[in-house]
Amino acid sequence: MSHDPKKCAHTACSCTVTEGKYCSQYCEDAAKIAPTAIACHCPHNGCEGKL
Ligand SMILES: [Zn+2]
Ligand SMILES: [Zn+2]
Repeated sequence: MSHDPKKCAHTACSCTVTEGKYCSQYCEDAAKIAPTAIACHCPHNGCEGKL
């Protein structure tokens, strides 16, 4: 198995994750509460989900 970066499992988030499915607690919560959200407000710079 390789360790290629994976995209955060939150639909609107473009961050990569090295561990788990989400880049942040925000995304884990957002994916449960609003899985079809079109914006991401995780604390990472460079995330393309920011509106
Ligand atoms: Zn994000
Ligand atoms: Zn994320």
